[in-house]
Amino acid sequence: MSVAGYQKSVPLHAYVAGVRDGDRAMLARAITLIESSRGEHVALAEELLQCLLPLTCNAIRVGITGVPGAGKSTAIDQLGINLIEQGHRVAVLAVDPTSTRSGGSILADKTRMARLAQSKSAFIRPSPTSGTLGGVARKTRETMALVEAAGFDVVLVETVGVGQSEFAVAGMVDFFLVLLLAGGGDEFQGIKRGIIEIADMIAITKADGDNSARAMKAASIYQGALAILTPTSPNWTPPVLTTSAQENRGLDELWACILEHRRIMQASGEFAARRGAQAVDWMRTLLQERLERVLRTDAEVQNRVQGLENEVRAGRLTPALAAGQLAALMGVR
Ligand code: GDP
Repeated sequence: MSVAGYQKSVPLHAYVAGVRDGDRAMLARAITLIESSRGEHVALAEELLQCLLPLTCNAIRVGITGVPGAGKSTAIDQLGINLIEQGHRVAVLAVDPTSTRSGGSILADKTRMARLAQSKSAFIRPSPTSGTLGGVARKTRETMALVEAAGFDVVLVETVGVGQSEFAVAGMVDFFLVLLLAGGGDEFQGIKRGIIEIADMIAITKADGDNSARAMKAASIYQGALAILTPTSPNWTPPVLTTSAQENRGLDELWACILEHRRIMQASGEFAARRGAQAVDWMRTLLQERLERVLRTDAEVQNRVQGLENEVRAGRLTPALAAGQLAALMGVR
């Protein structure tokens, strides 16, 4: 039986119950459902997310970025293990729209986070790598909702810090962490300056052995650099820490900072405001996608689009009038 046929045969209530009960197989199937672009799957996925909505707001959502080799997977593996020992359940979503990884990627991620992958309290899932950045970001958001509904109370969203996906990820988490290597002077190592500006914390990784002193020095340089940027919140100055995932040092302090940030943001009302703004943002993205889908797939609209485009191209109709006619056709005033 095809995957699509199989998905179709699972009724909504089975998805809801399975995810809510933390059934890993059903969770994986539900994620596959939301990743599908088939019309009936999209409709079912929307219903599923609506049913699970009340269960989706309690997790701590952390975005983690860094260039390849910065030590992301090693840090996530160790941090995840530490959190599980404290009683947490940890989901890791890996976003990499530039990657050509496909089916084998789950295996690759399991190898990258070997210990975490073996834990029953962890769930590791690469986000779909195909489609537009907007599409990838939407699926990640929805996957996040599903894992939260399944009882994972910490969600770590990993992204490779070389493109635009970091900004999308920062827009869906409570805390954005940037991992940097103690480099030989190459400031920010190809990480875009804009990413540093949205960081809630910087961690200098691999601060062990011969690298310890270099890491400490880098931390003070970056702390100075951060001091001249406008912080993301008037109540929070992004700290710079040093960590060694290999020796499990600095990660407890790192987590304590994340909790402290949460406490401060909740007290100031910024936490609720940020989550609210993110939800509205999500709604707008969905609306935009829906309109674009109609533009792309509705035969009548498509016919009209072509005709109007020809008129505009030939200079017989102004772009504004053509846009107005199309909007009217779509029922938009
Ligand atoms: P990623 O590409 O950002 O996920 O980076 P990885 O976690 O795969 O790490 C890249 C390399 O750095 C690997 O060879 C790791 O073993 C090494 N590494 C990661 N964390 C540490 C650390 O804390 N200390 C040391 N010395 N090496 C580390």
